[in-house]
This record gives sequence, C-alpha cells and structure tokens, in this order.
Amino acid sequence: MRIVLISTPIGFLGSGKGGGVELTLNSLVSGLLSLGHSVDVIAPKKSKLNDSNEKAKLHVVEGQDQISWQHQNYNSPVSIPDNSLLAGMLEKGLDIAKQADVLLNMSYDWLPIWMTLNVEIPIAHIISMGSESLVISNLISKVHAKHPYNFAFHSKIQASDYPFIKKPTIIGNGFKLDNYIFQDSLKGPLAWVGRVAPEKGLEDAVFAANELGEKLNVWGVIEDETYASKIEQSFPKGTIDWMGFLTTDELQKELGKCRVLLNTPKWNEAYGNVVVEALACGVPVIAYKRGGPSEIIQHGQTGYLANPDDKESLLSYVEIIEKIKRKNCREWVEKNASTDIFANKVMNWLNKVINEYK
Ligand code: UDP
Repeated sequence: MRIVLISTPIGFLGSGKGGGVELTLNSLVSGLLSLGHSVDVIAPKKSKLNDSNEKAKLHVVEGQDQISWQHQNYNSPVSIPDNSLLAGMLEKGLDIAKQADVLLNMSYDWLPIWMTLNVEIPIAHIISMGSESLVISNLISKVHAKHPYNFAFHSKIQASDYPFIKKPTIIGNGFKLDNYIFQDSLKGPLAWVGRVAPEKGLEDAVFAANELGEKLNVWGVIEDETYASKIEQSFPKGTIDWMGFLTTDELQKELGKCRVLLNTPKWNEAYGNVVVEALACGVPVIAYKRGGPSEIIQHGQTGYLANPDDKESLLSYVEIIEKIKRKNCREWVEKNASTDIFANKVMNWLNKVINEYK
C-alpha cells in the first residue's frame, strides 16, 4: 500500500510541541515500512524523521501553526491563520494521495475531517485527543454517519468522548523497543514527563515529591511558562528539577534510572505515550485512573492507578512502588505495544477504510 501521512500542524517533528503525535508518527512509519508499505509524510518545515525511517519520503510545508484545541474554549469556532500550515499540508497531501491508496491524517483539527466529505480519496483519521472542541466533535459525528470506518482512537476511554460511535476502532499505540533499554534501578529518583501545561497536572506530582522530601525530575517542553512558574513558587525551592526536552534516546537513558514515573493528567488523556516509554525502560508508573493510562497500567503488576486527583492516594502508592517487578513493565510493552503490533492494527483498519471506497 502507498500511505500518505499528515502530521500535526503544531510544531515541527522533533520540536516537542506536537506532543505524543510526533513519536506516534515515527513509530507508525517504522512499523508500516517494516511491513513493506510505502510511506510519504507531510510535515512542517524543519521536521525530521528518525534515521531508521529514511525509506519514507518526507515532504515539508511552510506556514502558520494552528492553535492547540486543548488551550481554547470548548465552544471556540475554528480559526485558520493566513498562510495556514494545516491547509498547506492538506493541499500537498491530497495532491500526493492521488497516486496513493489512502491519506492518513494525524492532526486533530477541523479542516482535514471536513475534507473527507468533499473528496473521492479515502481520508482516514487517527484522533489523538478526547473531545476538546464542540465543532470538531459535531463534525466527526457528521462524517462518521457517512464514513463509519474513517476514524480510529488510541484507547477505549478516549473514544468514549465520542459516544455517537458505538463500535470505535481502537489501535492503541506502538513503540520501537530497540530504542528503550531496560534498567533495574530500584533506588532511583521520582520522574515526571510531559508537556508542562495545565491539562497535565504537574502540581500533583510535585506535591507527592515534596511530601516525601524528594526532588521531582521533570522532562518536557514548557508550553505554559505562567503555569510552570506558578507551580514552582507553590513549593520549596529546588523541589522541581527541570531537565528540559530530550530526544528519545537521551530521555530513555535518564528515565530508566528512575524508580517510578508519576502521571497526573487532568483531562481524558487519549493514550499517554510517556507511560509506555517508562514501562519500556522498566520504570513502573503511578497514574490517576483516568484516560489512556487507566487502560495501559496493570494495577499492582506494572504500577498503580490512584483515584483521580487524589494526591494522598498517589503518595501512598509511591511508598510501595518497590513491590512492582520492573521486568513485568518491560514485558507488558513487548507483548502489547510494539511498532509491529501497532502497524498491524492500523493496516487492518486502513483496509476496511479503503474497501468502503471501492
Ligand atoms: N517527550 C520527549 N522528550 C522529553 C519529554 C517528552 O520526546 O524530554 C515526548 C515523549 O516521548 C512523548 C511526548 O513527548 O511521545 C508526550 O506525549 P504524551 O502522549 O505523553 O502526551 P501529549 O503531549 O500527546 O499530550
């Protein structure tokens, strides 16, 4: 199959601004290539694919980013800037897709979904967020009524934000296991990884670290400076160790030294890439029982699920984290979330989408 992928219109691949979609895209490309498919990627200027994905063809587009939907009001209208990156990527994607089997959209935005109603080319959408916009959810509902196979989700709980889809396609996610080295570091520090933005709830993890009199190592792009400094000021100086945004290789080396990852989302996290990346390094995860992490973490086996927003519950699980066997964590990823498993799920889904157009 020839598959044309459209990346996120927020940040170039490698910037970290696109969040989990950046890694998901690379994992998917890698899985699709290893199954023998041909892949074109349309992405913002300055984007780079992983070295191992050199067989994919990268087409870059210049333009203005979209505003991320999780930072707008639920009822906001769609806005498209002058020289829109999203429109540019879509134009290029549609053009290349004339010679391909399917256009696979990974941006969570209105325009590519609306386009599904208006072109003959099959456009399949990996929805990477829960319902963050009324106008997008209503559009998904409308398109779904005409093209019931064209949407896939990362987790069941994410898909439950779109209740008009009775039998959602769930594809999970995939991780290149060679990129993560298992480390048996029982006495390491506490870790938190993610975009530093309100929906990620960093403050609750800092609370737990502070109660234990420990530092919290924080990796990721600081997306919201005001939010970051507000948290910093609410706790004793030095409680947060800002480690910056690292490449996957650098991140996994550091993350693998930690004894636990705290994952404290305040929204219906679609999946939670960082949870699986930690597990792949052998690091157990304590997360709120909410969103994708609640489907990934095996309570008592690969980490613990705390009551949502209950910081004391989070803390109580940190105190017993050594009960988790780190080997179980890595094993779960090998059995459930490799790039091959992911790419096979995506291909089964894409075949259904394409058949619908025949
Ligand atoms: N990440 C990274 N380097 C860092 C911190 C984070 O590459 O120093 C990546 C991480 O690998 C993951 C993404 O940032 O793929 C965060 O994705 P996640 O699904 O956890 O949340 P999202 O940002 O999509 O809401």
